[in-house]
Amino acid sequence: MGNAIEVAELVKTYGELHAVNGLDLEIEEGHIFALLGPNGAGKSTTVEILEGFRKRTSGHVSVLGADPEKAGRAWREKLGIVLQSTAVSSLLTVRESVTHMAHLYPHPREVDEVIDAVGLTEKADAKAMSMSGGQQRRLEVALAVVGRPELVFLDEPTTGFDPDVRRAFWKLIRSIKDDGSTIVLTTHYLDEADYLADKVAIIAQGAKVAEDTPAGLRGRAGEAVVRWRDASGAHEKRTTTPTAFARTLLAKHKGEVPDLEISRPSLEDVYLDLTDLRTEEDS
Ligand code: ADP
Repeated sequence: MGNAIEVAELVKTYGELHAVNGLDLEIEEGHIFALLGPNGAGKSTTVEILEGFRKRTSGHVSVLGADPEKAGRAWREKLGIVLQSTAVSSLLTVRESVTHMAHLYPHPREVDEVIDAVGLTEKADAKAMSMSGGQQRRLEVALAVVGRPELVFLDEPTTGFDPDVRRAFWKLIRSIKDDGSTIVLTTHYLDEADYLADKVAIIAQGAKVAEDTPAGLRGRAGEAVVRWRDASGAHEKRTTTPTAFARTLLAKHKGEVPDLEISRPSLEDVYLDLTDLRTEEDS
């Protein structure tokens, strides 16, 4: 598979501020790629440049083989975009909105299938203004994917969602990927990147501080912590080989080790480690 997106040495300045400061990205076709970072890190600016909504100051950008600043309508038809703020028309019904959008594309998906995929079949004849925030967000996703886009941009798609609605939404995103689309997601939720992303780039102050699979990022924290108790009290040991260490403990105790616990650092530990020192607002 090739790359859907290639970015090299991307810079965007606003006066003195370097909102994006030398960013490199390669996003593989068919992947869900998450840009993860604290507020103000430059995620939205980057995505808006990739979408062709903002001009870069310098650097190289290729999205589906074209420069977003120069690409035309045929290129735009290959993109599905869900913006941060709600853009749905509150006067149309769900089915009217999705049908209207489908007519703008040469090879749209079946309207009712898309409405079903986002879980809005029961709301198909309801007007957006009568729906909850989570339902409106799902309608936006329906609008973004009905044109059968090769590449979907989701900018903080679940901000403000209840936990159960977020879970349902994640399943929807997965199904869009299974349908063959590449998905670029910005989020400041670690669990969201962990659940959805094939690859995660952690961004802080306009630059990439790490890029890996969620599991790979977790693995970077290295040592696991083994805790247990014996006659002399509670103990803790940090080790890169917790299984071997637990085996020696077992041998010593000849049976159940009291209060034995082995814990791995979470993605959050790695994230805080990577972004803490580099952001002013979080330090
Ligand atoms: P994120 O999406 O990671 O929260 P943004 O890309 O929105 O970050 O913002 C990156 C930085 O650029 C922030 O410091 C923000 O205040 C600044 N910024 C964004 N848009 C503009 C603009 N139009 N004019 C001036 N500064 C901006």
